[in-house]
Amino acid sequence: AKSNGRATYCMFQEGMGDAVRQRRLLEEDLHDAISEQQFELYYQPRLDLASGSITSYEALIRWNHPERGIISPAEFIPVAESSGQIIPIGKWVLHTALNDAREHLPDARISVNVSPVQFRDNDFADEVRRSIEDSGVPAKRLELEITENLLIEDDARALSILTSLKQTGVKIALDDFGVGYSSLGYLSRFPFDTIKIDRSFIKDRGYNTNTHAIIDTVVRLGKALNMTIVAEGVEDMANLLFLKASGCDELQGYFIGKPKPIATTVRRVAPDIAL
Ligand code: C2E
Ligand code: CA
Ligand code: CA
Ligand code: CA
Repeated sequence: AKSNGRATYCMFQEGMGDAVRQRRLLEEDLHDAISEQQFELYYQPRLDLASGSITSYEALIRWNHPERGIISPAEFIPVAESSGQIIPIGKWVLHTALNDAREHLPDARISVNVSPVQFRDNDFADEVRRSIEDSGVPAKRLELEITENLLIEDDARALSILTSLKQTGVKIALDDFGVGYSSLGYLSRFPFDTIKIDRSFIKDRGYNTNTHAIIDTVVRLGKALNMTIVAEGVEDMANLLFLKASGCDELQGYFIGKPKPIATTVRRVAPDIAL
Protein backbone atom coordinates (compact mmCIF):
# COMPACT_ATOMS: atom_id res chain seq x y z
CA ALA A 1 0.00 0.00 0.00
CA LYS A 2 2.91 2.27 0.87
CA SER A 3 4.63 1.91 -2.53
CA ASN A 4 1.29 2.33 -4.30
CA GLY A 5 0.79 5.59 -2.54
CA ARG A 6 4.22 6.75 -3.60
CA ALA A 7 3.61 5.75 -7.24
CA THR A 8 0.39 7.72 -7.31
CA TYR A 9 2.14 10.67 -5.74
CA CYS A 10 4.88 10.56 -8.43
CA MET A 11 2.39 10.40 -11.28
CA PHE A 12 0.46 13.30 -9.85
CA GLN A 13 3.66 15.32 -9.59
CA GLU A 14 4.62 14.60 -13.19
CA GLY A 15 1.17 15.52 -14.44
CA MET A 16 1.34 18.74 -12.49
CA GLY A 17 4.80 19.43 -13.88
CA ASP A 18 3.50 19.27 -17.44
CA ALA A 19 0.55 21.51 -16.74
CA VAL A 20 2.73 24.01 -14.89
CA ARG A 21 5.33 23.99 -17.68
CA GLN A 22 2.64 24.50 -20.34
CA ARG A 23 1.22 27.39 -18.37
CA ARG A 24 4.63 28.95 -17.87
CA LEU A 25 5.35 28.73 -21.60
CA LEU A 26 2.07 30.43 -22.44
CA GLU A 27 2.73 33.04 -19.77
CA GLU A 28 6.19 33.79 -21.21
CA ASP A 29 4.81 34.05 -24.74
CA LEU A 30 2.07 36.37 -23.48
CA HIS A 31 4.74 38.86 -22.36
CA ASP A 32 5.57 39.95 -25.89
CA ALA A 33 2.15 39.38 -27.42
CA ILE A 34 1.00 43.01 -27.11
CA SER A 35 4.23 44.64 -28.30
CA GLU A 36 4.52 42.09 -31.12
CA GLN A 37 0.92 42.86 -32.12
CA GLN A 38 -0.18 39.25 -31.90
CA PHE A 39 -3.63 40.03 -30.50
CA GLU A 40 -6.55 40.72 -32.73
CA LEU A 41 -10.19 41.50 -32.05
CA TYR A 42 -12.90 39.63 -33.90
CA TYR A 43 -16.42 41.06 -33.96
CA GLN A 44 -19.66 39.12 -33.71
CA PRO A 45 -22.89 40.89 -34.72
CA ARG A 46 -26.02 41.12 -32.58
CA LEU A 47 -29.33 41.26 -34.45
CA ASP A 48 -31.97 43.64 -33.14
CA LEU A 49 -35.29 41.91 -33.84
CA ALA A 50 -37.42 45.07 -33.68
CA SER A 51 -35.54 46.83 -36.49
CA GLY A 52 -34.21 43.72 -38.23
CA SER A 53 -30.74 45.22 -38.31
CA ILE A 54 -27.36 44.73 -36.72
CA THR A 55 -27.09 47.37 -34.03
CA SER A 56 -24.14 46.09 -32.05
CA TYR A 57 -21.04 43.90 -32.08
CA GLU A 58 -19.23 41.93 -29.38
CA ALA A 59 -15.43 42.19 -29.44
CA LEU A 60 -13.80 38.77 -28.94
CA ILE A 61 -10.04 38.52 -28.57
CA ARG A 62 -7.84 36.14 -30.59
CA TRP A 63 -4.15 35.43 -30.13
CA ASN A 64 -2.23 34.85 -33.33
CA HIS A 65 0.62 32.84 -31.82
CA PRO A 66 3.75 32.80 -34.03
CA GLU A 67 4.13 29.00 -33.76
CA ARG A 68 0.77 27.69 -32.63
CA GLY A 69 -1.55 29.73 -34.81
CA ILE A 70 -4.78 31.13 -33.36
CA ILE A 71 -5.20 30.40 -29.64
CA SER A 72 -8.70 30.79 -28.22
CA PRO A 73 -9.40 33.08 -25.27
CA ALA A 74 -10.77 30.11 -23.33
CA GLU A 75 -7.18 28.84 -23.22
CA PHE A 76 -5.13 31.97 -22.57
CA ILE A 77 -7.45 34.32 -20.63
CA PRO A 78 -7.27 32.14 -17.47
CA VAL A 79 -3.44 32.20 -17.72
CA ALA A 80 -3.44 35.97 -18.24
CA GLU A 81 -5.79 36.35 -15.26
CA SER A 82 -3.60 34.41 -12.86
CA SER A 83 -0.41 36.17 -14.02
CA GLY A 84 -1.99 39.65 -13.98
CA GLN A 85 -1.30 40.15 -17.69
CA ILE A 86 -5.04 40.50 -18.21
CA ILE A 87 -4.68 44.12 -17.00
CA PRO A 88 -2.63 45.40 -19.98
CA ILE A 89 -4.50 43.03 -22.31
CA GLY A 90 -7.84 44.37 -21.08
CA LYS A 91 -6.65 47.96 -21.69
CA TRP A 92 -5.58 47.00 -25.21
CA VAL A 93 -9.00 45.44 -25.86
CA LEU A 94 -10.90 48.53 -24.70
CA HIS A 95 -8.68 50.89 -26.66
CA THR A 96 -8.79 48.79 -29.84
CA ALA A 97 -12.53 48.09 -29.73
CA LEU A 98 -13.34 51.79 -29.29
CA ASN A 99 -11.04 52.82 -32.13
CA ASP A 100 -12.52 50.15 -34.41
CA ALA A 101 -16.00 51.35 -33.46
CA ARG A 102 -15.07 54.89 -34.46
CA GLU A 103 -13.25 53.96 -37.68
CA HIS A 104 -15.28 51.04 -39.01
CA LEU A 105 -18.61 50.61 -37.26
CA PRO A 106 -20.40 53.96 -37.34
CA ASP A 107 -23.47 54.14 -35.09
CA ALA A 108 -23.10 50.56 -33.86
CA ARG A 109 -22.66 49.76 -30.20
CA ILE A 110 -19.62 47.77 -29.16
CA SER A 111 -19.55 45.19 -26.34
CA VAL A 112 -16.35 44.42 -24.48
CA ASN A 113 -15.81 41.53 -22.05
CA VAL A 114 -14.42 42.47 -18.65
CA SER A 115 -12.48 39.97 -16.56
CA PRO A 116 -13.11 39.97 -12.78
CA VAL A 117 -9.36 40.50 -12.30
CA GLN A 118 -9.46 43.58 -14.50
CA PHE A 119 -12.54 44.86 -12.68
CA ARG A 120 -10.79 44.42 -9.32
CA ASP A 121 -7.96 46.73 -10.43
CA ASN A 122 -8.29 50.10 -8.68
CA ASP A 123 -7.70 51.96 -11.91
CA PHE A 124 -10.46 50.16 -13.86
CA ALA A 125 -13.20 52.84 -13.91
CA ASP A 126 -10.72 55.62 -14.73
CA GLU A 127 -9.21 53.48 -17.45
CA VAL A 128 -12.62 53.00 -19.06
CA ARG A 129 -13.33 56.74 -18.90
CA ARG A 130 -9.88 57.55 -20.35
CA SER A 131 -10.32 55.09 -23.23
CA ILE A 132 -13.67 56.62 -24.09
CA GLU A 133 -12.25 60.16 -24.05
CA ASP A 134 -9.21 59.18 -26.12
CA SER A 135 -11.37 57.47 -28.73
CA GLY A 136 -13.91 60.26 -29.07
CA VAL A 137 -16.66 57.63 -29.21
CA PRO A 138 -19.79 58.58 -27.19
CA ALA A 139 -19.92 56.56 -23.94
CA LYS A 140 -23.40 55.25 -24.76
CA ARG A 141 -21.92 53.25 -27.63
CA LEU A 142 -19.83 51.16 -25.23
CA GLU A 143 -21.27 48.19 -23.36
CA LEU A 144 -19.28 46.27 -20.75
CA GLU A 145 -20.08 42.56 -20.37
CA ILE A 146 -19.57 41.28 -16.86
CA THR A 147 -20.37 37.96 -15.21
CA GLU A 148 -22.01 37.18 -11.91
CA ASN A 149 -18.84 35.88 -10.26
CA LEU A 150 -17.53 39.44 -10.45
CA LEU A 151 -20.42 40.62 -8.27
CA ILE A 152 -20.11 38.14 -5.42
CA GLU A 153 -16.60 39.18 -4.43
CA ASP A 154 -17.23 42.67 -3.12
CA ASP A 155 -20.63 43.72 -4.19
CA ALA A 156 -20.64 47.14 -2.51
CA ARG A 157 -17.56 48.12 -4.51
CA ALA A 158 -18.95 46.53 -7.69
CA LEU A 159 -22.18 48.47 -7.28
CA SER A 160 -20.40 51.81 -6.83
CA ILE A 161 -18.12 51.26 -9.85
CA LEU A 162 -20.94 50.10 -12.12
CA THR A 163 -23.15 52.98 -10.99
CA SER A 164 -20.43 55.55 -11.65
CA LEU A 165 -19.71 54.09 -15.11
CA LYS A 166 -23.40 54.12 -15.91
CA GLN A 167 -23.53 57.79 -15.00
CA THR A 168 -20.98 58.46 -17.73
CA GLY A 169 -23.35 56.73 -20.16
CA VAL A 170 -21.68 53.32 -20.49
CA LYS A 171 -24.07 50.35 -20.77
CA ILE A 172 -23.70 47.28 -18.55
CA ALA A 173 -24.58 43.75 -19.62
CA LEU A 174 -24.84 40.66 -17.44
CA ASP A 175 -23.14 37.92 -19.48
CA ASP A 176 -23.73 34.15 -19.35
CA PHE A 177 -26.95 34.59 -17.36
CA GLY A 178 -28.29 31.39 -15.87
CA VAL A 179 -24.98 29.66 -15.20
CA GLY A 180 -22.81 30.32 -12.17
CA TYR A 181 -24.12 32.05 -9.09
CA SER A 182 -27.29 33.39 -10.62
CA SER A 183 -29.17 35.30 -8.03
CA LEU A 184 -32.35 37.21 -8.72
CA GLY A 185 -31.13 39.70 -6.13
CA TYR A 186 -28.41 40.83 -8.52
CA LEU A 187 -30.99 41.80 -11.11
CA SER A 188 -32.73 44.21 -8.77
CA ARG A 189 -29.61 45.57 -7.08
CA PHE A 190 -27.31 46.18 -10.06
CA PRO A 191 -28.01 48.64 -12.85
CA PHE A 192 -27.94 46.28 -15.83
CA ASP A 193 -29.10 47.46 -19.22
CA THR A 194 -28.84 44.03 -20.79
CA ILE A 195 -29.15 40.36 -19.84
CA LYS A 196 -27.44 37.82 -22.07
CA ILE A 197 -29.00 34.38 -21.71
CA ASP A 198 -26.23 31.78 -21.74
CA ARG A 199 -25.81 29.70 -24.85
CA SER A 200 -26.32 26.43 -22.92
CA PHE A 201 -30.05 27.21 -22.58
CA ILE A 202 -30.46 27.86 -26.30
CA LYS A 203 -28.51 24.72 -27.19
CA ASP A 204 -30.74 22.56 -24.98
CA ARG A 205 -33.95 24.10 -26.19
CA GLY A 206 -35.01 21.34 -28.57
CA TYR A 207 -34.56 18.59 -26.02
CA ASN A 208 -35.77 20.01 -22.78
CA THR A 209 -39.12 21.69 -22.26
CA ASN A 210 -37.93 23.08 -18.92
CA THR A 211 -35.54 25.36 -20.76
CA HIS A 212 -38.52 26.77 -22.71
CA ALA A 213 -40.06 27.78 -19.42
CA ILE A 214 -36.80 29.24 -18.17
CA ILE A 215 -36.24 31.35 -21.28
CA ASP A 216 -39.84 32.63 -21.19
CA THR A 217 -39.46 33.54 -17.53
CA VAL A 218 -36.13 35.33 -17.97
CA VAL A 219 -37.58 37.31 -20.88
CA ARG A 220 -40.60 38.39 -18.83
CA LEU A 221 -38.47 39.24 -15.81
CA GLY A 222 -36.04 41.27 -17.91
CA LYS A 223 -38.89 43.16 -19.56
CA ALA A 224 -40.41 43.98 -16.19
CA LEU A 225 -37.03 45.36 -15.10
CA ASN A 226 -36.68 47.35 -18.33
CA MET A 227 -33.67 45.40 -19.55
CA THR A 228 -32.75 44.32 -23.06
CA ILE A 229 -32.76 40.53 -23.42
CA VAL A 230 -30.13 38.99 -25.68
CA ALA A 231 -29.98 35.27 -26.50
CA GLU A 232 -26.52 33.85 -27.20
CA GLY A 233 -25.62 30.83 -29.31
CA VAL A 234 -28.37 31.13 -31.93
CA GLU A 235 -27.30 28.44 -34.39
CA ASP A 236 -30.28 27.84 -36.67
CA MET A 237 -33.60 29.17 -37.92
CA ALA A 238 -35.54 27.09 -35.38
CA ASN A 239 -33.63 28.83 -32.56
CA LEU A 240 -34.31 32.21 -34.14
CA LEU A 241 -38.05 31.65 -34.53
CA PHE A 242 -38.45 30.31 -31.01
CA LEU A 243 -36.49 33.16 -29.42
CA LYS A 244 -38.34 35.77 -31.45
CA ALA A 245 -41.65 34.27 -30.31
CA SER A 246 -40.39 34.25 -26.70
CA GLY A 247 -39.91 38.00 -26.89
CA CYS A 248 -36.11 38.24 -26.88
CA ASP A 249 -34.94 41.64 -28.06
CA GLU A 250 -31.65 40.72 -29.70
CA LEU A 251 -29.98 37.56 -31.01
CA GLN A 252 -26.34 36.57 -31.26
CA GLY A 253 -24.84 33.35 -32.62
CA TYR A 254 -23.36 31.63 -35.65
CA PHE A 255 -26.72 31.77 -37.46
CA ILE A 256 -26.68 35.58 -37.23
CA GLY A 257 -22.96 35.84 -37.91
CA LYS A 258 -19.67 34.33 -36.78
CA PRO A 259 -17.00 36.45 -35.12
CA LYS A 260 -14.80 37.96 -37.85
CA PRO A 261 -11.78 40.26 -38.12
CA ILE A 262 -12.65 43.94 -38.44
CA ALA A 263 -11.66 44.03 -42.11
CA THR A 264 -14.44 41.58 -42.97
CA THR A 265 -16.97 42.95 -40.49
CA VAL A 266 -19.23 44.97 -42.71
CA ARG A 267 -21.77 47.14 -41.03
CA ARG A 268 -25.19 46.28 -42.35
CA VAL A 269 -27.62 49.13 -42.55
CA ALA A 270 -31.26 48.79 -41.53
CA PRO A 271 -33.50 47.35 -42.73
CA ASP A 272 -31.90 44.59 -44.70
CA ILE A 273 -33.09 41.42 -43.03
CA ALA A 274 -36.69 40.42 -43.60
CA LEU A 275 -38.07 38.65 -40.54
P1 C2E B 1 -18.42 34.81 -24.11
O1 C2E B 1 -18.24 36.21 -23.65
O2 C2E B 1 -19.61 34.08 -23.58
O3 C2E B 1 -18.44 34.88 -25.70
C1 C2E B 1 -19.25 34.07 -26.53
C2 C2E B 1 -18.47 32.90 -27.05
O4 C2E B 1 -19.37 32.02 -27.75
C3 C2E B 1 -17.39 33.27 -28.07
O5 C2E B 1 -16.32 32.34 -27.94
C4 C2E B 1 -18.12 33.06 -29.40
O6 C2E B 1 -17.25 32.84 -30.49
C5 C2E B 1 -18.93 31.84 -29.08
N1 C2E B 1 -20.14 31.73 -29.92
C6 C2E B 1 -20.86 32.73 -30.47
N2 C2E B 1 -21.94 32.26 -31.14
C7 C2E B 1 -21.90 30.92 -31.02
C8 C2E B 1 -22.76 29.85 -31.49
O7 C2E B 1 -23.77 30.06 -32.18
N3 C2E B 1 -22.40 28.58 -31.15
C9 C2E B 1 -21.29 28.32 -30.41
N4 C2E B 1 -21.01 27.04 -30.14
N5 C2E B 1 -20.47 29.29 -29.93
C10 C2E B 1 -20.77 30.58 -30.23
P2 C2E B 1 -14.80 32.83 -27.89
O8 C2E B 1 -14.63 33.99 -28.83
O9 C2E B 1 -13.94 31.64 -28.05
O10 C2E B 1 -14.66 33.41 -26.43
C11 C2E B 1 -14.76 32.58 -25.31
C12 C2E B 1 -14.80 33.38 -24.02
O11 C2E B 1 -13.55 34.04 -23.81
C13 C2E B 1 -15.84 34.49 -24.03
O12 C2E B 1 -17.11 33.93 -23.76
C14 C2E B 1 -15.30 35.39 -22.94
O13 C2E B 1 -15.66 34.89 -21.68
C15 C2E B 1 -13.80 35.24 -23.13
N6 C2E B 1 -13.29 36.39 -23.89
C16 C2E B 1 -13.28 36.60 -25.23
N7 C2E B 1 -12.72 37.79 -25.55
C17 C2E B 1 -12.38 38.37 -24.36
C18 C2E B 1 -11.76 39.62 -24.00
O14 C2E B 1 -11.44 40.48 -24.85
N8 C2E B 1 -11.56 39.83 -22.67
C19 C2E B 1 -11.93 38.93 -21.71
N9 C2E B 1 -11.68 39.22 -20.42
N10 C2E B 1 -12.51 37.76 -22.01
C20 C2E B 1 -12.74 37.47 -23.32
CA1 CA C 1 -19.45 37.99 -23.61
CA1 CA D 1 -21.64 34.88 -22.99
CA1 CA E 1 -18.82 32.44 -21.38
